[in-house]
Amino acid sequence: MSMIEFRNVQKYYGDFHALKDINLEIDKGETVVLIGPSGSGKSTLARTVNGLETIQDGQLIVNGHNIGEKSTNLNLIRKDVGMVFQHFNLYANKDVLENVMLAPRIVLKLNEDENKKRAMALLDQVGLADKAHNMPSQISGGQAQRVAIARSLAMKPRCMLFDEPTSALDPEMIDDVLNVIKYVTSQGDMTSLIVTHEMGFAQEVANRVIFMDQGQILEDEATDKFYNHPTNERARQFLSKIIKH
Ligand code: ADP
Ligand code: MG
Repeated sequence: MSMIEFRNVQKYYGDFHALKDINLEIDKGETVVLIGPSGSGKSTLARTVNGLETIQDGQLIVNGHNIGEKSTNLNLIRKDVGMVFQHFNLYANKDVLENVMLAPRIVLKLNEDENKKRAMALLDQVGLADKAHNMPSQISGGQAQRVAIARSLAMKPRCMLFDEPTSALDPEMIDDVLNVIKYVTSQGDMTSLIVTHEMGFAQEVANRVIFMDQGQILEDEATDKFYNHPTNERARQFLSKIIKH
């Protein structure tokens, strides 16, 4: 059963055609990595999934809800779809634990004890139980990104979107964050769409790799096949460039 389905989706920013006839189906439980050159539309595609960007034509069904329809309650969709960005936006004036507890308290209306127990368990999962009472300014960038992941998971999402979650981090922080994402994607029937150029990581976690260029999906392949024999020439060129680094 599909969690995310794009059918002939078109997205424009003014006159600029940012997503060109996107057709894509992601099943429940799948982990899909999205790659492509800067400006190809990766963030735009990810952001349409939780309604942060509107689409102009076609259909986009997320967890059974039609995102394009005005009557769709986007808050319901955002509850099911967690998003982690390149720049973690923790609330600077709240400690780590409170950052994780805030949304479940307001949106899920969890009682304080249960909320705290779950938040601590999540912080433990991302290796940060001992930082629960640090302020965001008192933890590293990699730790902050792991808090951001715990904060998203606290909403019990069915689907997670990661948009270049490690590209703003110092190299020595990257593995800890990737390990947390690996763990998250392996849990239950979580569905994940991950924009990343960390190719070793992608090969480990992804069922499929999607290559985008200039607003189009040019390749959508099982991971091994994509890395070993990309059929699209632009995908081949792109891969040879990033693998050299
Ligand atoms: P990527 O994440 O692959 O680098 P983006 O999805 O951010 O690409 O951007 C795709 C294209 O859409 C780029 O050409 C970018 O300049 C353009 N774009 C992105 N956001 C906006 C916006 N808010 N207004 C106008 N153009 C935008
Ligand atoms: Mg982007």
